[in-house]
Amino acid sequence: MVHPDIIARYRQYLSRQKMLFTRERSQILESVFARADHFSADDLLLTMKNEGLDVSRATLYRNLKQLAKAGLLVEADFGHGHIHYERAVGSSPHEHLICQICGSVTEVSTSAFSAVVKKVAMSQGFRLDHHQVKIFGVCHQCIVAGKSI
Ligand SMILES: [Zn+2]
Ligand SMILES: [Zn+2]
Ligand SMILES: [Zn+2]
Repeated sequence: MVHPDIIARYRQYLSRQKMLFTRERSQILESVFARADHFSADDLLLTMKNEGLDVSRATLYRNLKQLAKAGLLVEADFGHGHIHYERAVGSSPHEHLICQICGSVTEVSTSAFSAVVKKVAMSQGFRLDHHQVKIFGVCHQCIVAGKSI
């Protein structure tokens, strides 16, 4: 179940854009908020297809962009050649460790780092919505396996 606040926020955005909260949009919203990972549009398409939901690729791409514009999803580029999405609401601030060999993305959260980000924003009178940090390198598994670029 998607939190009512999220649905309300999406409906508000859609009505401003003169768009309707259709059954299809509702289904996509359900599928998006059923997961907590960083997914690509194709990841989500596969999940929805496996669940027997019929949605076209173009529609899904469009809807994900709309969810990002509505401030419910954040787009992230991890250098995979496609966009990843993750929740902008209902997740705590975190940083990403991106392995340049296997492509794995690990979330790490350091409160000290978040505090610095907050301080920097505040010092500029800036309202912080979220931050996104990408740390590129080689993950522990790849190092142990002796892999290198
Ligand atoms: Zn990817
Ligand atoms: Zn790796
Ligand atoms: Zn993340």
